[in-house]
Order: sequence, then C-alpha cells, then structure tokens
Amino acid sequence: MNKPKVVILGAGYGGLTTTVKLQKKLGVNDAHITLVNKHDYHYESTWLHETAAGTLHHDRGRYAIKDVINSGKVDFVQDTVTAIKPDENKVILENGELDYDYLVVALGFEAATFGIPGLIENAFTIGSVNQSRLIRQHIEYNFAKYNNESEKNESRLNIVVGGGGFTGIEFLGELADRVPQLCKEYDIDRNLVRIINVEAMPSILPGFDPQLVEYAMNSLESRGVEFKLGAMLKECKPDGIVIEKDGEQEEIATNTTVWAAGVRANHLVEESSLEHNRGKVEVKPDLRAPSHENVFVVGDCALIWNKETDRPYPPTAQIAMQEADVCAHNLATLVKGGGDLESFEFNNQGTVASLGHGDAIGVIFGNKKLFGWSASVMKKVIDNRALLKVGGIGLVLKKGKFNIF
Ligand code: FAD
Repeated sequence: MNKPKVVILGAGYGGLTTTVKLQKKLGVNDAHITLVNKHDYHYESTWLHETAAGTLHHDRGRYAIKDVINSGKVDFVQDTVTAIKPDENKVILENGELDYDYLVVALGFEAATFGIPGLIENAFTIGSVNQSRLIRQHIEYNFAKYNNESEKNESRLNIVVGGGGFTGIEFLGELADRVPQLCKEYDIDRNLVRIINVEAMPSILPGFDPQLVEYAMNSLESRGVEFKLGAMLKECKPDGIVIEKDGEQEEIATNTTVWAAGVRANHLVEESSLEHNRGKVEVKPDLRAPSHENVFVVGDCALIWNKETDRPYPPTAQIAMQEADVCAHNLATLVKGGGDLESFEFNNQGTVASLGHGDAIGVIFGNKKLFGWSASVMKKVIDNRALLKVGGIGLVLKKGKFNIF
C-alpha cells in the first residue's frame, strides 16, 4: 500500500514543532514525511533582535534541523518554495517539485511596508538570520567609518527604529545596551549617538498594560532612546527619513533605519489558490484551510479569530507552537485513517517583552505583572521552553539562556 505523503513547508516554530511531534506519533510505515526549509538550520525568530543589535551571536540562536528530526521517518529537503499549488496537490521548489496527500504551510512572516516610499529599498528588517546579521554589520561599519572621515557624518551614528510594537521595543532594548559598548570600541562619544523610535500611535506596545508601558518607556529613555510618538514615517532615503507629526514634517539624518512596524504572512500564501483573508488563511478550528481539506496552515500564515477581543490573535511563536501540537495530532489521525480531529484553543501562557539585558516587562498567569529582573528571568524561561519543546533538554543545555545576572 502506498504511504500517504505529508509535506511540511517551513522549519520555524510552527513547521518544526509539527514535524517533531508528528514523527513521535507515526511509525515508519504510516506516512512519508518531508520537511522543506530554505536553510539547513532552524533559527529562533524571537531572538533575532539580539543578533541584529549584536548582543547575541547568530550561532547561539540557530541549530541544525538534522539534530532534531528523526531521519528514519522524515526526509529533509533544503530548498526554497516558490509556489504552492493546492488544486494540484503540488509544491514548486527552486530545484524541483513535490506532490503530497497532506500539506502543512508554515512559511512564517515577512515585513509589511505599507507602500511607504523608499522603505523596501533603504530600510532593514529583522526577519531572518541573514537580515539580522546584516543590520549588526551595517551598524558596526558605520561606527567604524565615523572616525575615519575628515568630515563628520551624523547620519552614521543615528539609528532609527520604525515601530514601537513588540519587535521594535525589544530591538531598542538591545540597542540601548549595545551602543555604549560600540562607542567604547570605536572611540565615539555616547552623546553623539541617537537611537530614535518612530511610532504612529500615541503610545508604544499597544495592548500592553499602561503601567508596563510606562515602565518600558522610562527604562529605554533612561538609556538614551528618544521616542517620536504619533509620528508617521513618510519616506525613507539612504541617508535619512522624513516623519510627520501634528502636520509638521521633520527630516532625520540616518544611514540606519530598521523597520519593525508590521508583518504579514509569507507572500506565497496570497499567491496560491488557498482562500485567504488579507494574505492569511482563516483556518477552521482543526487548522485546515476551508478551501482545501488536505492543507493545514499554522503560525504566522494562519489567521484565527479571538472571540473574546473580536480581533485575530497576534502572530506569535507561542501560538505557532500550540497550533503545531494540534496540527500534528490531526495529521496523525487522518493519516491513520480518521477519527475525531482536535480544535485549536489558545492557552495564553503570558507575554514578556525584553528591554535588554536584565530588564523586561510582562504579564503571566492571566494578570500577574512582572517588571525588571524577574521579568527578564521569565523571558529566558520562555526562550528555553521553546528549545525544550523541539529538542529536549540536550538542546536547552546546548543553546539555552542561563545568564540571569
Ligand atoms: P517562522 O518561525 O518565521 O518560520 C518560517 C520558516 O519558513 C523559517 O525557517 C523560514 O526560513 C522558512 N521559509 C520562509 N520562506 C520560505 C520559502 N520560500 N521556502 C522555504 N522555507 C521558507 N513571538 C512570541 O511569541 N514571543 C516573542 O517574544 C516574540 N518576539 C519576537 C521578536 C522578533 C525580533 C521577531 C521578528 C518576532 C518575534 N515574535 C515573538 C514573533 C514570532 O517570531 C513569530 O510569530 C513566529 O516566528 C512565527 O512562527 P512561524 O512558524 O509561523 O514562522
């Protein structure tokens, strides 16, 4: 009998967790499982801001996919997906194609730039190891260059972060730690460096408790971060940005604009024939695409409505990994010939945003607020928990974060 073919696209939080859970649930003869990913490693997307600021080496936040999959049960294909053809049960890769009986789409996020002029060409985004490494090197190059030019160029030392949401604030926290180190390293007066956050809303961290937001702003301002709130980014140029606040325009000289103000699902979803809502598949409770019964969608490519807030759940690693549990269970059930499929229900384990080394804010156990050191320890617990879930205690010991002081 032919084994059903299961193809999983993307080895991020959603895809890799689905794979490792599925390989435990199925025997070698139950299914032919193939995992496709651009790189031969998994990276912790939630740590990329640290790589980008240069506070964590990129190798700390990534590990080989072959180290966590069972190669007796899962074929790993390192390739780039170029198209999903659900009507033909087929996926097109840069170097070939795969057909499937069941598909899991877990291709993650990409930056949403909302058509702002110059942003795609001139801003950096924090979306992969390679993008984050480029930001780190770009900042270091500009600091190194500053003292090697006869005419001092302030745009080299001004760093603009677009967006005061979760990613933007976590990146600012790392930058606030890193800039004094860079100044020392490159003989630059710290007072010459500006770290500027541009946020269109009147406050940072929408959805966070106001007391926590105030704490975060005070922490970052005390370390030299300037906030431009209620300010729209109108244009991004190679050597500066234009913002508009209260009808007034202002130009800020900078060679470094990092755009962290919005993500969308991988464009391949919108380009496929999967029914979608603004680029994401609004999945059924069992995480299948309404238009294609044999396609599961998890992580940032999936849209699930939170009935309590009447808004979609935000794209997070926490949700992606919880969806993966349900997806693996449901896939195993279907592959083995049927039975009851589980419905996804979000179990909120809390949210913690880092503000740099030893500082963070968060809410756990529903409404317990955390600040400072205790929140930062909790953040490391969360980071280590993600490693534990995919690769067990061995991976935690190899890659985990333990520097709590
Ligand atoms: P990803 O984890 O992004 O995985 C997608 C995978 O698909 C990647 O391996 C990618 O290489 C691969 N891929 C993409 N395109 C292709 C292609 N064409 N072909 C082959 N492979 C491809 N969430 C939290 O819950 N808590 C946090 O504290 C938090 N902090 C964050 C901090 C930062 C800086 C960022 C950027 C995000 C943060 N998030 C956080 C959000 C979280 O990272 C995402 O929601 C999560 O990564 C989504 O998981 P995913 O599996 O959908 O996608």
